[in-house]
Amino acid sequence: MTDWKTRTMLVHSGARRSQYGEMSEAIFLTQGFVYNSAEQAEARFIESGPDEFIYARYGNPTVRMFEERIAAIEGTEDAFATASGMAAVNGALTALLKAGDHVVAARALFGSCLYVLDVLGRFGVEVTLVDGTDLGQWRAAMRADTKAVFLESVSNPTLEVIDVRAVADIAHKVGATVIVDNVFATPTFSQAVALGADVVVYSATKHIDGSGRCLGGVVCGTKQYIRKVLEPYLKHTGAAMSPFNAWVMLKGMETLDLRVRQQASSALSIATALQGHAKLAQVIYPGLKDHPQHAIAMDQMGAGGTIVTLVLKGGQAAAFKFLNALEIVKISNNLGDAKSIITHPATTTHQRLPADQKALLGITPGLVRLSLGIEDPEDLLADLMQALDQA
Ligand SMILES: *Cc1c(COP(=O)(O)O)cnc(C)c1O
Repeated sequence: MTDWKTRTMLVHSGARRSQYGEMSEAIFLTQGFVYNSAEQAEARFIESGPDEFIYARYGNPTVRMFEERIAAIEGTEDAFATASGMAAVNGALTALLKAGDHVVAARALFGSCLYVLDVLGRFGVEVTLVDGTDLGQWRAAMRADTKAVFLESVSNPTLEVIDVRAVADIAHKVGATVIVDNVFATPTFSQAVALGADVVVYSATKHIDGSGRCLGGVVCGTKQYIRKVLEPYLKHTGAAMSPFNAWVMLKGMETLDLRVRQQASSALSIATALQGHAKLAQVIYPGLKDHPQHAIAMDQMGAGGTIVTLVLKGGQAAAFKFLNALEIVKISNNLGDAKSIITHPATTTHQRLPADQKALLGITPGLVRLSLGIEDPEDLLADLMQALDQA
């Protein structure tokens, strides 16, 4: 199994067939498991093996299939699935940290990730935020008591790309665990572990589901971290993934590579076509040569990803006219969906961020985030062009 290529693993890894030999993975919609004897029940509570289950909060066969499949493609020894991406982020950090520990994190984070760091602060964890693209700031922030480093490898919504290898080298010098939220990089383009990340976190809600159906998350890492650090925390605090959602994610993974490559190809062609458009002040896409971290993006992902960020010259009024004129592209706040989605972060996902923070992160009134779907890219470009005409 270890020498399978990613696309084979996405279809076959982790499959467990029941005695019926079903082709498609089964949904084991059960919380509990029956033991043959009281002695077997006792033995399983002492130490359950990889094919043995006790209670769905601890593990479930369908959920385990999903965990094994994502661990296989991510190149980690193990994984633990969670009810949402935020349960994964919260678990990955909280399970590891205690009062008095220090965390260094990149400033450009998803709002809910910043909230989790605030909560950790309430419990005595000290957090230092840095500009993730400035290696000098990472170096300066590191201390002997720095226990974890947390970053989004590609930031939302301004698409800054962080040099995972360089940050991991800096963090490992003080023995910190490097936790990477890799949603924007996607599992298809992820080389996070090869680059030095210790723990990789996904919101499966995004590209892994890929059709906007279910919430889910997953944490990937070493067997030691997943089973001895993370699992005890998660199984007792209750953020388990539902078996039904795990089944949806398994099906999503079968087509993940095809979808994400198409989305990235559409993103590159659309970003290229929109460059220099009279209504746009800026086209931000890591796959474009003028992106400040283009070389890092190519080195660590081999592609620019599935999201393009546009800055309209006319500020919020122009951005709203643009959004309202779109016919195919939907106004929403998810991403990684088969359907193209556009978001105005300043008034939605980042609405509550104070003005000075928005300015610091480059979330200006004219900025919109476009998540490319799998529609025909010519139709998408035509839709974007007609809407820009009206902006
Ligand atoms: C969406 C997202 C999350 C949270 O995932 P949910 O599944 O919505 O809980 C975390 N990090 C990033 C970068 C995201 O885009």
